[in-house]
Amino acid sequence: MVLNYRKKYEVVVAGAGIAGVAAALAAARRGHKVALVEKQTLIGGLATAGLIYVYLPLCDGNGTQVTFGIAEELLKRSLKYSPFDLPEAWGGRKNGNYGCGRIRYMCRFSPAGFTLALEEALKEAGVDLWLDTLICASQTASDRTVTGLEVENVSGRGLLEAGCFVDATGDATVIRRAGGAFETSENYRTPWIMESAPDTTLYPVVDSIHIQCLGEWSKEFEVENALDSRTVTDFTRGSWAMARKAYDDAYASGKCDRYHNFPIHLPAMPQFRKIARIKGIETLRSGQEWTSFDSSVGLCADWRRGGLVWETPFGTLVPEDVRGVFAAGRCTGTDGDAWEIFRVIPAAAMTGEIAGTAASLAVEKKLDGVELDVDSVRAELRKNGFKFHFEELGLRRGNATLGATP
Ligand SMILES: Cc1cc2nc3c(=O)[nH]c(=O)nc-3n(C[C@H](O)[C@H](O)[C@H](O)COP(=O)(O)OP(=O)(O)OC[C@H]3O[C@@H](n4cnc5c(N)ncnc54)[C@H](O)[C@@H]3O)c2cc1C
Repeated sequence: MVLNYRKKYEVVVAGAGIAGVAAALAAARRGHKVALVEKQTLIGGLATAGLIYVYLPLCDGNGTQVTFGIAEELLKRSLKYSPFDLPEAWGGRKNGNYGCGRIRYMCRFSPAGFTLALEEALKEAGVDLWLDTLICASQTASDRTVTGLEVENVSGRGLLEAGCFVDATGDATVIRRAGGAFETSENYRTPWIMESAPDTTLYPVVDSIHIQCLGEWSKEFEVENALDSRTVTDFTRGSWAMARKAYDDAYASGKCDRYHNFPIHLPAMPQFRKIARIKGIETLRSGQEWTSFDSSVGLCADWRRGGLVWETPFGTLVPEDVRGVFAAGRCTGTDGDAWEIFRVIPAAAMTGEIAGTAASLAVEKKLDGVELDVDSVRAELRKNGFKFHFEELGLRRGNATLGATP
């Protein structure tokens, strides 16, 4: 393959979803030359291009914040170009518009507004953003250390080299292409689309622009292997068919008409929740909430129910069989219920910051991921407010409180 260009960085982050943005910010703010590579011309990944609009909680549901650092910064930035506020109990305006009845440390955001805010942060940090650039292959040394990413864009085929990489592609593309082990998951078609519709909840005569969730988590809408291009196409077209049916039925029943109720925007990414995750040197599994790990580098709350908190073992970001790269976001080494908790926006931001920090330390110390000691990562994260263990916040296993699931 002829290479049209070759660039050298200290850290290259693959994928500009929430995890990738957080990783790039963390590494760049530590003074490193960082590239962030994204195949779309939007940043934010599923959270923006996928029309997700709920930044799930940073708190445990019982009034204690558990996730800190860039995850909190991005939550605040997500509000900048949006009509929403934080709940008053978490610093929002009195009687502000927080869009839901829950008082956890969470918010709603405008997907487009969040893209603008994320790019502003990358610019301030001096990250070199490559849009419309597809990562096609991982170059590796004989010991399976990733040394470069082959990319393709309108300038042709190029190579981006770095001392360390972060795989924040949402499906572990870099690690899989380097021969790393991975697991997959089933998925359900539950399209979220943006529409205009008469607002029947607040003001019956006013039209509203909002995001509509269709479908449900049932066998009827299940697909098994999201790592198959035919499935990606069929899954996406199936979502469009569901949207058409919803409008056809609504028009036929006379519940609404096409002058007031119509689609405005469809997701620009397939709405798979879980595609592929790495096999890490540690795996976080179902039932391990309230389990303490010596290697913990952060805390994350259960977004579905209050009172459940998880520690984050560093080894879930370190692939067991590929070197020179850390995983971040929804492709880290979590399984079952733990994958469900760690696949969402706050956890993506948190693992992104951890991975970006670890990658920049690995470059400084000329080490690969496996050799890096956890204390050095923790020391850096602590500067940005991170907590690692339940006892630091006086948290202990208590009564889980049931909450509405967004
Ligand atoms: C229907 C649905 C509803 C959800 N609801 C919520 C919710 O209410 N709240 C919440 O917090 N979370 C929700 N989530 C989950 C959440 O949005 C995502 O899991 C999270 O944003 C993932 O972030 P990420 O950065 O790990 O991955 P992604 O967002 O997948 O980012 C990966 C990025 O990498 C890029 N990329 C991938 N491959 C390549 C390549 N080869 N070359 C270049 N770039 C590449 C992608 O284009 C993308 O931008 C929902 C998910 C779905 C599907």
